Amino acid sequence: MIKISVTSKLDGIRSWSLQALDTCPGSIASPGVLVDACKGCYATTGNYRYPNVKAPRISNQSDWQRMGWVSDMVEALQNDRFFRWFDSGDMYTLGLAEKMLEVMRMTPWCSHWLPTRMHKFPKFSIVLQNMAALPNVSVRFSSDSVNGQFTKGLHGSVIVADSTQHTKGMTLCRAYENAGKCSGCRACWDKKVKVIAYPAHGQKMQKVIQILKAA
Ligand code: SF4
Repeated sequence: MIKISVTSKLDGIRSWSLQALDTCPGSIASPGVLVDACKGCYATTGNYRYPNVKAPRISNQSDWQRMGWVSDMVEALQNDRFFRWFDSGDMYTLGLAEKMLEVMRMTPWCSHWLPTRMHKFPKFSIVLQNMAALPNVSVRFSSDSVNGQFTKGLHGSVIVADSTQHTKGMTLCRAYENAGKCSGCRACWDKKVKVIAYPAHGQKMQKVIQILKAA
């Protein structure tokens, strides 16, 4: 059964998600060490630790593998005009990526935003190119930095330590000016917006930034 989640930030826009880290091979810098951006991941703290929040994400990890998942997802998105893949987790396997591409193709009325680190694995390049070629899909490769470093032409999003670190070439996420909500902004879905800068939030992420500064 399709299990959809809704995060408070996104104006009621819905997501399909998996368990963070368990499904994030792109989060590994070296054995046992996470990339900086994933060290402070919001999806490993707060509400995300509750069993009722974990349960749909764990269920989704097996659910996508069944016959009929693509058509059920298409049916579930009948009334969505915007959709976010993964408020937690990532597109951890090629089989899932290929099914997601089908869902994207079969829902042209809906704008899809896919943030991912799977671009690090060459076998995903064709499916990611095919997704990005669709007019209704914004694929954003996430930078691993928490200090605004990104590669032009590759990354579509990066964390900045605070809003002052926002530099030329980035579009600043201003949810912090609107009580942490998008409030009508849809920049993440806009293919013309090349790089979004997200100011770091949450105690865990601030701690990561402090440790990096001190190093
Ligand atoms: S950039 Fe806009 S759409 Fe993206 S998360 Fe921030 S407020 Fe929401």
